[in-house]
Amino acid sequence: MPVGTNATVKSLDPDDLHSIGAQIILANTYHLYLRPGHERIKRLGGLNKFSAWSKPILTDSGGFQVVSLGPLMRIREEGARFHSHLDGSQHLFTPERSIEIQEALGPDIAVAFDQPVMPGSSERRDVLRAMQRTHRWAVRSLRAHALEEQALFGIAQGGIDPELRAESATYIRSLPFEGINLGGLAGDETPEERNTAVEATIAALQGDHRVRYLMGLGSPVDLLEAVLRGVDLFDSVLPARVARNGQAWVTGGRMNLRNARHLDEDQPLDALCDCSTCRRFSRAYLAHLFRAEELLAYRLLTIHNLRHLSAFMRAIRLALRSGTLAAELPRLRAAAGGPGTPRLGVGDEPSEEPARGAMRPRYAEDGRLRGVNRQRATAREGRE
Ligand SMILES: [Zn+2]
Repeated sequence: MPVGTNATVKSLDPDDLHSIGAQIILANTYHLYLRPGHERIKRLGGLNKFSAWSKPILTDSGGFQVVSLGPLMRIREEGARFHSHLDGSQHLFTPERSIEIQEALGPDIAVAFDQPVMPGSSERRDVLRAMQRTHRWAVRSLRAHALEEQALFGIAQGGIDPELRAESATYIRSLPFEGINLGGLAGDETPEERNTAVEATIAALQGDHRVRYLMGLGSPVDLLEAVLRGVDLFDSVLPARVARNGQAWVTGGRMNLRNARHLDEDQPLDALCDCSTCRRFSRAYLAHLFRAEELLAYRLLTIHNLRHLSAFMRAIRLALRSGTLAAELPRLRAAAGGPGTPRLGVGDEPSEEPARGAMRPRYAEDGRLRGVNRQRATAREGRE
């Protein structure tokens, strides 16, 4: 799922999304609640009509964004009280309130309110407490949800502890949700820690045929590894975010368009790509647009990255369907640009590694940032 935080995938319109093969997009409850307001969107006919997007939409519950606010947020059993990153105004999100907002927004799929924690750096005690609260909030979310034509997904937590992951997945699968999310990953954990957590979750879901959705994961190699372990659905801001930084995902790796070398290259970003950017424009033109900070650069590169990922996922689906995934795995891993694949050229690795998920601030149970100067925790943390 491409992520449309503010009911738009940044710089794209719905025709672009259809052309890249998007079947569903994600919109953020937290952002749309604050601006323009869920009641206004409901009056205007709901999210689909409001954004002129005719295909399915999933909204997250807002739990992740609220908890990511760090010092701007306090968690109690009732819910999470927070200050808006836009104007500092005070708000309370409870499971009931999150569901009420999502019913007003009107997506096809809503998600239960949860309390994620940073997977790699949280104490087991904090992970356990957040998991148990997430379970109680899951029940409250289900009780509050009344919109029959809207599906509701539940979230399993448990950090990177395999026992807690299994316990949480076992509990969430016992509830009548329409899909099961793996929450609290795609943060500061290592790929090995994530794989272990995913394996423990999927093992506890054996025989359950509901959709499994890993929230926040986005790079081709990460998606492939998660699919191999049994995950079906993903969302991430990553392909669009790295595009805005000038990074193109291409077959076998990635390319930094700010590298001067590309200013003289007449070929497309990726000769194997069928997107409207690769069919029409050269690397030289795109590199020029980035240097000149032209708005078109962000749009064209976002189209390419999302199409690249969409085509990659399609290749995985076809291999699964035809039973050839094992045979095609070396080719898929090479195409994903994972470990062991050659770099495309000197300078094509970005100097700054983009965030894996959107989880940046470190927070503790009482909502205080750990080891971070409070004044440095700006309102910007709430974005995306
Ligand atoms: Zn392309």
